[in-house]
Amino acid sequence: MQETLLLLERLYDLDQRRDQTWDAMKGLEKDLAETATQLEQLRAEIGGLEGQRKELVDAERANARELDKHVQRRTRTQEQLDAGLLPDFLTAQRQIEGLGQIVDRLETEALELMERREILERKLVALGERARRLEARQAQQQLRLEQEGPLRKAELDALNLERKDRKESVPSHVLREYEGLRKLHRDALVWLEGGACQACRMHHPPQVVLEVRRGSKVHRCRGCTRFLAGVVEADPEDAVKDDESRVDG
Ligand SMILES: [Zn+2]
Repeated sequence: MQETLLLLERLYDLDQRRDQTWDAMKGLEKDLAETATQLEQLRAEIGGLEGQRKELVDAERANARELDKHVQRRTRTQEQLDAGLLPDFLTAQRQIEGLGQIVDRLETEALELMERREILERKLVALGERARRLEARQAQQQLRLEQEGPLRKAELDALNLERKDRKESVPSHVLREYEGLRKLHRDALVWLEGGACQACRMHHPPQVVLEVRRGSKVHRCRGCTRFLAGVVEADPEDAVKDDESRVDG
């Protein structure tokens, strides 16, 4: 195989490991940040519901005061009526009925308010549990970042150091092209599969496929300009056929 291609593959192999390490490192930070965002949203939601709950509690207190007032008024009127202290019996009777209706309405309201508050409280309990689970997850993720973060960083430093060596061995014009490509695509090296580029699916002439398979010449995809590192043998029979026709140089 062409030495340039071999050196390029070695560099690419290292870059892939760098990408993996980088992703793993960033992944730890990303997980933690996501949990923090979720917790923040959850706490805001809990805060909103706590506010609603407080309003309901206040409304329940006001309702209870009103109810008490009207029950007392009705009782008093009834007592006065029973004692014969009210000269206009019918008016008093209507007053008692009116007060009774208000008491009924306030009692219904009291039940509705209580029900709404209880639903809210159940929701708050569930959200509180969720917040505790998220806090536990956050603590774990924080610990993982503290433990693994420095390891990943050290790995990356070592890989970067090794990269300097590998880079220097690649011919400068190829390296320039490769570095330019890497800025565009992480997968700067691709394989041909069924004669087509794995990345952009462009088909290549048999001669190019052959040369790429043998690694006798450095080719770049005409479609996406990635380096063509080799051929993925999709059909084993095709590979055998090609081996038979191969002329060893
Ligand atoms: Zn391509």
